[in-house]
Amino acid sequence: MPSSYLDSPIEYLKGVGPHRGEILKKELGIFTFRDLLHHFPFRYVDRSRFYTISEMNEELPYIQLKGVVKQITPHGGKRITRLVAQFADETGSIELIWFQGIKWMRDILKVGKQYVVFGKPTLFNSRFNIVHPEIEEYTPETAKAGGVLQGVYGTTEKCKALSLDSKGILKLQKMLLSGLPSTLAESLPTSIIYSEKLMPLREAYVNIHLPANAALLQQAEQRLKFEELFLIQLRLLKSKQLRMEKTSGKRFDKIGDYFNTFYHEHLPFELTGAQKRVLKEIRHDCGSGKQMNRLLQGDVGSGKTVVALLAMLMSLDNGYQSCLMAPTEILATQHFTTITNLLQGLQVNIAFLTGSTKAAERKRILAGLQSGEINILIGTHALIEDDVQFINAGLVVIDEQHRFGVQQRASLWMKTKEPPHVLVMTATPIPRTLAMTLYGDLDVSALDEMPAGRKPVKTVHRFESQRLAVIGFMREQISLGRQIYIVYPLIEESEKLDLNNLMEGFESISRDFPLPDYRVSVVHGRMKAKDKETEMQRFKSGQTHIMVATTVIEVGVDVPNASVMIIENAERFGLSQLHQLRGRVGRGAEQSYCILITGDKKGNDARKRMKIMCDTTNGFEIAEMDLQLRGPGDLTGTQQSGILDLHIADLAKDQKILERAREVAVNILTNDANLLLPENNLLKEKLNHYERQQANFSRVS
Ligand code: ADP
Ligand code: MG
Repeated sequence: MPSSYLDSPIEYLKGVGPHRGEILKKELGIFTFRDLLHHFPFRYVDRSRFYTISEMNEELPYIQLKGVVKQITPHGGKRITRLVAQFADETGSIELIWFQGIKWMRDILKVGKQYVVFGKPTLFNSRFNIVHPEIEEYTPETAKAGGVLQGVYGTTEKCKALSLDSKGILKLQKMLLSGLPSTLAESLPTSIIYSEKLMPLREAYVNIHLPANAALLQQAEQRLKFEELFLIQLRLLKSKQLRMEKTSGKRFDKIGDYFNTFYHEHLPFELTGAQKRVLKEIRHDCGSGKQMNRLLQGDVGSGKTVVALLAMLMSLDNGYQSCLMAPTEILATQHFTTITNLLQGLQVNIAFLTGSTKAAERKRILAGLQSGEINILIGTHALIEDDVQFINAGLVVIDEQHRFGVQQRASLWMKTKEPPHVLVMTATPIPRTLAMTLYGDLDVSALDEMPAGRKPVKTVHRFESQRLAVIGFMREQISLGRQIYIVYPLIEESEKLDLNNLMEGFESISRDFPLPDYRVSVVHGRMKAKDKETEMQRFKSGQTHIMVATTVIEVGVDVPNASVMIIENAERFGLSQLHQLRGRVGRGAEQSYCILITGDKKGNDARKRMKIMCDTTNGFEIAEMDLQLRGPGDLTGTQQSGILDLHIADLAKDQKILERAREVAVNILTNDANLLLPENNLLKEKLNHYERQQANFSRVS
């Protein structure tokens, strides 16, 4: 019974037993043989050769070195916070550094002894070191172990206490694999295995854990990554297909007077190529008879508002109402003002609804929606409330998507039996691979071109020691009539520290820019909403020259006269966040600047990020770099997504596999929409299995 082997409870594996079994379940979520088999190494140590210290460079992966510990030095005074060992071979010496497990390391490390060290060398202050290396005594046996790639497994302290460290887990994998039935059933249709030239499942399992060589490991990875990504894409595409089948959409089959008059007589500029392309995409979707569900990504300033407006006019031309929802009152007000101005002279009835709308006005608006008198409704979350009922909503536009939960989006669609089209707009571009995975069941458009004549923000990186020059530059800009933001990082765990940091900054700025010539505003998260608003308003109206703030400065708040963005402790921000902050300036006619300030001694990673920021202002490029540098888990808005719970595929590196997997999934569903062909039976079962799991999950959570 091949399948039952993998379904066996983990405690039945020789070498596990009840006690270790319990810990494997609790600590690593490993309940069955299959779970263990799917606990893949997160990297491999090349044990085929020893490197020498003189060969070191930053591009090396995890390597092994052979040498002698010459000296062991604890640092940090009474409470040792860092242990440094000098480690030397015939060609040179490096430092091995521990910040954790110091006591244990002190006990086992002996000066004068020979060790094998595994790790990734990093350059710090122009010397190489290895932080938290794995280390073992050198014996003739280690020397013989050469010639293989050895898997390194994720584990925990509690597991290690029961000898389930990486090596212990490797031992279990060997045990498991030795019993793996030779008839192990395939998990993908044979047609796919052939067409994609995939390694058979059994070989893939063996080679992912015990690779005989690099080429076989690569094939095993390819197979398992493909399978993982393919099944996700199949699921997403299937759910999109179901949505399309279930929900018919309102058909916008004409472009009429509202659209044409506005486009030809009122629009104050020529649309960019990207805007035209996206409008075509929207028009195509809305005319298809199916509900549109489109994500529109575009940097701040790429002109999303006018695209939304044109789409709403399309809706109006076809006899439908529309609404535009923004995440904050300030942004909603901005949209209302902009759109009211743009539509001046056209007979379009626009209403504005937020949480602070007075009861009588609210009543009037609700009635206007019901009578059909109101064409376009603009507002905040207040639009989702139950009693806000349209007579015939055709299009819902949601700005700044990541602030709204999926639940909220869903409740907007549910307002009518035949749901309106949905256009979700976000100023946080995400890389293609992430979009395909996170929003794989939506269609995605990109405004990847800025309106002509926009001057890109000039960005520079300055060190703490160059602060005087920065202050001089600020004075110069203020004398030219410009305004300046200074932003401090806010990290929740140390909110108090950050606040101190900000207030110190504020005081020092107030000393450098004294009254009466200069006026400084301050805004932070601990202030009352009303005080915040007053300060923002003072800055907006030009009464103050400098705004000192934490990241609470609202996404999208528009102060065109602010032309300098100074970011303190810039190394503490991720790329996407730096890019978002920089988007606060560059909105007026003047040349704008962004100054990234970091301490004088910053690691390579921080330098890289600063360089990227100085080199490009393209949000799509920056998002791509962010993904490469940090991995998908840290990107804005992706944290809670279970979809990113990948076992083996890596969205930063496996773009090609992902694209191919999606293509194959599309082909399968095109040929066999309901997976009725015998060869697709396996896939149907997998989807059903997943759905049952989801159903159980939503019941318990
Ligand atoms: P965002 O994508 O950040 O929401 P907006 O829609 O607010 O961008 O547009 C930013 C500014 O650019 C607005 O002042 C808008 O009128 C202007 N704009 C939009 N499209 C164009 C265009 N094609 N040509 C020139 N200016 C444009
Ligand atoms: Mg906007």
